[in-house]
Amino acid sequence: MIHFGSGKKVDTLIVGTGIAGSTLAFELQKRNASYLICTAQKSPKANTSSLSFGHCRTPPQGELKQTVEKSVSFLGESRQRMKFVYSKANLVQSLFEELGIGFEQRAFGIIPKGGGRGGLAILRKLQREIPSIQTETRLVGLSKKQGVFQALLRKEGIVSKVRAKRVVLATGGFASRFPYSDTFKVQNNGLFKMVQGLGGHLANSHCLFLHPLAFNKGRQILIGKDLSRGEFLDNEGRFVFSNHTRQLLEADSYHESFNQLLLQSAACRQHGSQVYFVLGGRSIRIVPTAHYTAGGIKTDPLAGVLGCKGLFAVGECAADGSKNCGRLPGYPFTAAIVYGKVLGERLASPKPF
Ligand SMILES: Cc1cc2nc3c(=O)[nH]c(=O)nc-3n(C[C@H](O)[C@H](O)[C@H](O)COP(=O)(O)OP(=O)(O)OC[C@H]3O[C@@H](n4cnc5c(N)ncnc54)[C@H](O)[C@@H]3O)c2cc1C
Repeated sequence: MIHFGSGKKVDTLIVGTGIAGSTLAFELQKRNASYLICTAQKSPKANTSSLSFGHCRTPPQGELKQTVEKSVSFLGESRQRMKFVYSKANLVQSLFEELGIGFEQRAFGIIPKGGGRGGLAILRKLQREIPSIQTETRLVGLSKKQGVFQALLRKEGIVSKVRAKRVVLATGGFASRFPYSDTFKVQNNGLFKMVQGLGGHLANSHCLFLHPLAFNKGRQILIGKDLSRGEFLDNEGRFVFSNHTRQLLEADSYHESFNQLLLQSAACRQHGSQVYFVLGGRSIRIVPTAHYTAGGIKTDPLAGVLGCKGLFAVGECAADGSKNCGRLPGYPFTAAIVYGKVLGERLASPKPF
């Protein structure tokens, strides 16, 4: 483990301490590899991953083909990548077992036991195993000279240069730049320009995905058992959703019907009404919210940034496939864990490429 400081040289620099960066660092740490991991935030847990439920999509063998097919034909994802991720989804359970995280089976996969922010439970366990995370350390510049990356990292107003053979961007999505968003507020505006400056490609970087069932000015989203007990009503007490949609909500199987939910609640608002979720006499106002940006850095199926050798992108900053219609819920955590594990093993090997 190499500590932060100007002129330092590491094999791998990881930028970001969400589920993607932390899983990768954990794998490198286990193998005693040379790496440095940093986050722009004061706490390594201050990120969208900690706000997440940590529900991971882990299709059983019998549903693998169907899950891949749905991602490809319905969402426009890359078949090669979907096969890669979902065929290795068992790595999620391995990680949970390795870290002693209790889990339960839910609608489409596994989730840490205890409810609430399962993402935070996973990060806590992961980061306990990563001894030196550099906090309040922002990547502000990235260039490449003679095959070696020069990263400019700003900490407490001082910019240091770190040289790295490989850089892994695990910098998350961009949905928090919108006024209504349930994600953690981050500033990573210059990142795409840095990637393009190195010859990297972007895809769908202006594509925003809305979550239809948010409240508290978009800061929180509804999920779970409450949904099956309450009803979505308009100002006049009429049902907002069709019978079919209500059945899906009741059965906790609505995840693949976000477009329908958005369209039906938009129709209600067009008539001047509001959407409310009513449960046990309580009524909360529902608004759609920016949940994630559905594009980003274009990578090959092994997370290598297209157009720049040695640069990698994992987690929500990477554009998986086309993501024109969003992604399957639970995919982000599964993909981040699978890539963290596979890439970690590879980057720690004596001859990674
Ligand atoms: C409310 C909510 C619930 C969700 N529930 C689920 C779920 O159940 N299952 C699921 O699969 N997905 C879920 N998601 C989506 C999932 O949480 C995200 O896709 C995932 O957490 C993204 O992880 P990440 O590691 O890519 O990025 P993040 O967790 O966003 O972390 C990004 C990191 O990069 C750092 N960073 C960014 N720019 C810089 C820079 N320039 N320099 C240094 N550091 C930088 C940040 O500080 C941060 O540490 C949910 C999302 C929300 C908002």
